[in-house]
Amino acid sequence: MRFEISKVLDAIEHRLSMDPVLAGAILDIGELLRAQELDGGRPLYLPRVGTVIDALAVKLDDAAVPVYAVAERGLLSSLELTSNEKMVLRRWADDGLIEVLSDVEPGRRLIELHAITGLPVVSRNPLPVAMAYAPVPGIGGVALIDRQGAAPVRADRPGVVPPQAVLARRWRCPEGEPVPVPLLLTTGHPTCPRHGQPLGDDGARPQAMAVTVWVKGAAKTRFPVDPLRPVVVGRAPAQGVMLGPWLDEEALQWVSRAHVELSAGPDGLVVRDLSTNGTVVQKSNGQKAELSRDQTAVVGEQDVVELHQGVELARAGRRPAKAAPASSGIMAEAPTIALRLPRP
Ligand SMILES: [Zn+2]
Repeated sequence: MRFEISKVLDAIEHRLSMDPVLAGAILDIGELLRAQELDGGRPLYLPRVGTVIDALAVKLDDAAVPVYAVAERGLLSSLELTSNEKMVLRRWADDGLIEVLSDVEPGRRLIELHAITGLPVVSRNPLPVAMAYAPVPGIGGVALIDRQGAAPVRADRPGVVPPQAVLARRWRCPEGEPVPVPLLLTTGHPTCPRHGQPLGDDGARPQAMAVTVWVKGAAKTRFPVDPLRPVVVGRAPAQGVMLGPWLDEEALQWVSRAHVELSAGPDGLVVRDLSTNGTVVQKSNGQKAELSRDQTAVVGEQDVVELHQGVELARAGRRPAKAAPASSGIMAEAPTIALRLPRP
């Protein structure tokens, strides 16, 4: 049992990101691990968050979608969690995978994060945001239902920069860690959510694009590409996104160790072929561009880069055609962690 719980927590870990370009939704870990009505299990149970992330993957039809998760600082030492759960939460916090909140009620921060990033909020509580999903017990797990929010609270005030503007800069806490999305609601100025200190401006933030890896119709991972960070993708690149573990024998033969490089240019996402066997860009207008080594092509928002049949890269939000059902998610890591659903 313990082994399987740690597998579930590892699987959740792979789906946490404080990069608003990569994340598909915002949620509060403390709220969701207490959502006992979702499964009838322990009152506080960290793996429960995995069932909600699985539900988001089904909702968005993207098994690799990460979440931007916040956690109240007190949760990291809560007596109601197991020592393993607390240790894992502290590790996530220290690795910059979750946002720790010191003096702000998480619900208020979710509203602010929504205003800054535009991402939907997953919450049982009716929050004044334009887009929210409420987790409810579903067949074999948790389901998310749309909750039409009230008109979002306008955080704009005369003479105050709109909240989204903070995403154009990079911010750093005096304690040293980068802060992807500053807290504004306490002082009106960019502040560290964890330490409450004013943030330093680290310069302009390059505009990033999220790319999803699809293998046989299942989303495997998302990664960012920005003008400062070209990314190599292949079977086993020295540095970059490694596809090897997801490929079958035939694809392993076909896909080069370093197959393509993705970069962000003035025209958008650009792919450069580095491979032996070539790369195909399926354009949204039905045409295709075949690239051989060192040839490049612009990848439009709706285009799909094919490294081999069924091994595809696409902008996040674009699902390649001919897709198979999504893979089975976090809780598939631990089939014996039974969900005890309330009887209807
Ligand atoms: Zn800090």
